[in-house]
Amino acid sequence: MTPADSPSAPSNVVPPAPGSSRTIIVKEYDFFKVVQDYLERASRTLDLADFVRAILSQPKNELIINFPVKMDSGDVRLFKGYRVQHNNLLGPFKGGMRYHPSVTLDDVKALAAMMTWKCALMRVPFGGGKGGIKFDPHSVSKNELQKITRRFTHALGENIGPEYDIPAPDVGTNSQTMAWMMDTYSNMVGAANKQSVKGVVTGKPVASGGTLGRAKATGQGAVFCVIEWAKEKGFDLEGSTMTVQGFGNVGSHLAVILSRLGVSTIAVGDHTGYLLNPEGFNAHKLQDWVETHGSIAGYPGGKAITREEFFKTKADIFAPCALENQIGETEAKNLDCKVIVEGANGPTNPAGERILLERGIDILPDVLANSGGVTVSYYEWVQNKRSESWTEEEVDAKLEKAMTRAYREVADFARQHKVDRRIGAYGLALQRIEAVYKEREIFP
Ligand code: GLU
Repeated sequence: MTPADSPSAPSNVVPPAPGSSRTIIVKEYDFFKVVQDYLERASRTLDLADFVRAILSQPKNELIINFPVKMDSGDVRLFKGYRVQHNNLLGPFKGGMRYHPSVTLDDVKALAAMMTWKCALMRVPFGGGKGGIKFDPHSVSKNELQKITRRFTHALGENIGPEYDIPAPDVGTNSQTMAWMMDTYSNMVGAANKQSVKGVVTGKPVASGGTLGRAKATGQGAVFCVIEWAKEKGFDLEGSTMTVQGFGNVGSHLAVILSRLGVSTIAVGDHTGYLLNPEGFNAHKLQDWVETHGSIAGYPGGKAITREEFFKTKADIFAPCALENQIGETEAKNLDCKVIVEGANGPTNPAGERILLERGIDILPDVLANSGGVTVSYYEWVQNKRSESWTEEEVDAKLEKAMTRAYREVADFARQHKVDRRIGAYGLALQRIEAVYKEREIFP
């Protein structure tokens, strides 16, 4: 597979010049700048107080930790870990830990800010944070992965905590990663406090203090948004089609849950390539395959296609559930769908977005569409505090109510202020944060 086929290929890669074998990236995609621009636009719509805009335009804390780990070979390797704490006005910093070779400080800053918007939008009493380690988790052994996670958690020390900053899974991490983080943290706080710090991370395995319904929560939340969109548009989901980019935790659950509503997934892609099946994939089987094999590669039920063919595949719904900056101008022109549900954070770049909006394609923006994850993280944290275990039905019912309300609030706000849904979602979040800043004012 060439890099241009991978989901992470930015659309600003220039092919090698004649006589040269080097691919030139003209300009790195500046994800943080993109998020700052959205903040700027939404602030103007609202006439947001200058001091609030200024505070939110930068994270509160940015932490970079270089830490050594002894690998299986006996060699010591140095890793670079990040934790960015964007804002904690509404509650503890909250957000995932990403393990990926492309992790940069600026991307983590963008993702941390988006967590602040998501929590405010969902009325979850948390702020925003994000972290990660720059490495490929698939390139190390399970033993090494555990040591990397534990050493990073130890190095973070007091910078995380159940009332201060609460990590969760993100790209490249999962419930196992969270179990190691929680266990490490609980061994750092002294015997008497071990039980009370379960809530230092969310997205834990259920037996270790996680909640039912968290694994599928991001996909499930996105489904509730799609259902609301279908109601709004008078669109019948039964018999409709979808393409999904990224078949990990978010994309696979989204496809499985929507398949029960009669939506068939006809094309999928991940870091190994793209597959087409006009008859519709068996989402369950594909999910099991990815669980066992780590990717969609080699799945027998589909025909290999290129990234370009994938983006040209006609379907009613497109669900980008991989990484940021996947839909640029080319992809936006090629996409033949009615709605885009952003399971990933930042999958549509501003140039792509402009074209999609001109073409009348609806976008259910990331800060709304994938906020089911952090919402159920909050339910997990509450259960940990109260030593309770809710049923999956309770969790799902609460999430449905929260997502449906947020969907409608965003739609109303966007209509009232004559802005698109992304700016609408930002605007609503900012309005809530501004109200609290105006009440509390600035210390001292
Ligand atoms: N990483 C997820 C996100 O981007 C979940 C964060 C959380 O549960 O704290 O929203």
